[in-house]
Amino acid sequence: MHKSTPLFQIHTDIDERVRLIREGHPEWLCGKGCDSCCRRLAEVPRLTAAEWEVLQEGLAALPPEQLADIRRHMLELTETPSRSVVCPMLERATGACPVYLHRPVACRTYGFYIERNLGLYCGDIEALVAQGALPDVVWGNQDAIDRRLGSLGESRPLTEWFAGWVGGEGLEGAL
Ligand code: SF4
Repeated sequence: MHKSTPLFQIHTDIDERVRLIREGHPEWLCGKGCDSCCRRLAEVPRLTAAEWEVLQEGLAALPPEQLADIRRHMLELTETPSRSVVCPMLERATGACPVYLHRPVACRTYGFYIERNLGLYCGDIEALVAQGALPDVVWGNQDAIDRRLGSLGESRPLTEWFAGWVGGEGLEGAL
């Protein structure tokens, strides 16, 4: 991704906010080993075209077997929509994100940004806040990030982007 793109600027600003928060709290919950949010998404993630372009690069670099697993999980999501969504990209055995460097903006802000009406999203961090454990944290503003993302164009569900990528054969087709 070119450094002058608006999405790169958004990533840079989020990285800086996250860095500042982590700096003051080295024990921060979000990190390798915690995949709670990836296992309990409120809905199929929606991405702008710019986010999808980045994510697609990460997906294209995965081994074919891993991509086949992801395609299967995407298909499950479209066939059996459920209230709680496990991210189709999550490595379920290890809890790792195989596209971490290419992940969407929502994954980058989760746990570090607050949305005016929806709070922090992460129940574990909200519990710490309720106990008064994080009084000095300057949270990121999710509403501002959403406005910047909105200016990049429409968002579409991840499953739609993915189905378009695998081509006219759809999610059931061969990659
Ligand atoms: S893309 Fe990665 S970080 Fe984001 S929800 Fe999926 S597994 Fe988690």
